[in-house]
Amino acid sequence: MRIGLALLLSLMFIASGVARTADVALIGAKIYTSPTDPPIENGSTVVRDGLILSVGPSSTIKIPHSATIIDCRGLVVTAGFWNSHVHILAPALLHIQDSDAKKLDQELDTMFNRWGFTTVFDIASELDNTLALHRRIESGELRGPRILTVGEPIWTIEPVYVRDFLRQNHIHIENTETPEQAIALVRDHAARGANGIKLFTGSDQGHGQVALLPVATAKAAVDEVHRHGMPVFAHPTNVEGVRVAIDSGVDILAHTLPQSPPWTPKFTQQLKHANLSLIPTLTLFDVEARKANVPDQQRTVWIAQMVDQLRAYSEAGGDILFGTDIGYTDHYDTTLEFTLMSQAGMNYKQILASLTTNPARKFGDSDHTGRIAKDMKADLVILNADPAQDVTAYSKVRFTIRNGKVLYKER
Ligand SMILES: [Zn+2]
Repeated sequence: MRIGLALLLSLMFIASGVARTADVALIGAKIYTSPTDPPIENGSTVVRDGLILSVGPSSTIKIPHSATIIDCRGLVVTAGFWNSHVHILAPALLHIQDSDAKKLDQELDTMFNRWGFTTVFDIASELDNTLALHRRIESGELRGPRILTVGEPIWTIEPVYVRDFLRQNHIHIENTETPEQAIALVRDHAARGANGIKLFTGSDQGHGQVALLPVATAKAAVDEVHRHGMPVFAHPTNVEGVRVAIDSGVDILAHTLPQSPPWTPKFTQQLKHANLSLIPTLTLFDVEARKANVPDQQRTVWIAQMVDQLRAYSEAGGDILFGTDIGYTDHYDTTLEFTLMSQAGMNYKQILASLTTNPARKFGDSDHTGRIAKDMKADLVILNADPAQDVTAYSKVRFTIRNGKVLYKER
C-alpha cells in the first residue's frame, strides 16, 4: 500500500512536470551575506530550486527533512565570485564542439570552479566557440560558471604578444580602423549573442610602440554597444590608451598600467568622473615579467606602480572589479592577486565587493547575484578560512555552488 502511494505521488510529480531537486542546507557557517552587512557568526542557509530560500542565524532557519546537509561549522560562506577578466582561449577550451565533457569539466575545474567563480566575463576569444561552451554549461552537460563574453575584440592591429598564439591556432581577427567597421562588428556580435565589447584603445606593438584606436572609431563603437545595453571594456596599455577610453565613453578599464607613472589625484578624478571601473590584473604582470626574464628589480617596480594606481583609485572611491586575465595566462591561483590588492590598501570587505556586488551592479545583475538573500540565485562559495583574518582566505575554497548545484568540492 505504501509503495503504491509513493509510486502514485512520483507519477503525479512527473505528470505535473515537477522535477524537484533536493533542497541543500548549509549549516553552522560564518556567513557574509554582503560586503557591507555584519556577518552572521553561526548562520545557515537553505537552497531550493537554484535560489536562496532562507538565510539567517542557525536558530531561526528551518531545515527541511529531505535537505542535503553541508556541515559548514568552522567554515565561511560568501556569495559566488565573479572574475571580470578571463579568456576562453586556454588550449583545452579552443575546440568546444569536438571536446569531450570529461576533459572540459577538468579544465573548468582547474580554471574557474576551484577558485569560487560562478560568473566570469570573457573579454576576448572566438565568439562562436565561447558561446558553444556557454550552451554546454547551461544545458547541464558541463560543470562551469555562467560565461559572459565579448567575443572577438576591436583593434587596429593585434598586440604583439598574441600574434604567434593566434597564428598557431588559426584564429583570425579582423583589424578595425573606421567607425563603420566598428559599428558593423558590434551589430554582428550583438546579433550572435555577445554580452559586451572589448576595445584595444592601445595595442602594444613592442619596443615602446602602441597602436591607438582612433577616438572617432572608439566612440562609434561605444555608442553602438550602449544602444544594445551592453558594457564596453578597454585594454589601454598606456595613459594615451586610457585617454581614448575616457574620451569615447568606455565603461571598464581591463588593466592597471605597469609602465606608467603614478596616477595624480586629477587623473584619478577624471577616471571616476568617466564612471570607469578598474580591473587591476596585478598578478598578470608579475607572471609576464617572469616569463620574459625581466630583472627582479624592474618587475618589482612594475608591481609597485600598479599597486599604487589601484590604491589611488580605490581610495578615491573608484569602482574595482576583480579580474586576473586567466585563459591568457595559465596562472589560475588567485592568492597573489588578493595579497597585492591588500597591499594596495583594500580591506577584505572591499575585496569581497570587487568579487561580488561591484560586478553584479556594473553588469546589471544586482537583483540576482552578488549577495546572499532570499530569492537571489544560490551562487555560493564555502571557504576554509575567514578573509577578515587574512584576505588570501578567498583562495581557500572548500565548495563552489552555482544555481544551487555543487560545481566544485575540495578533495
Ligand atoms: Zn586579457
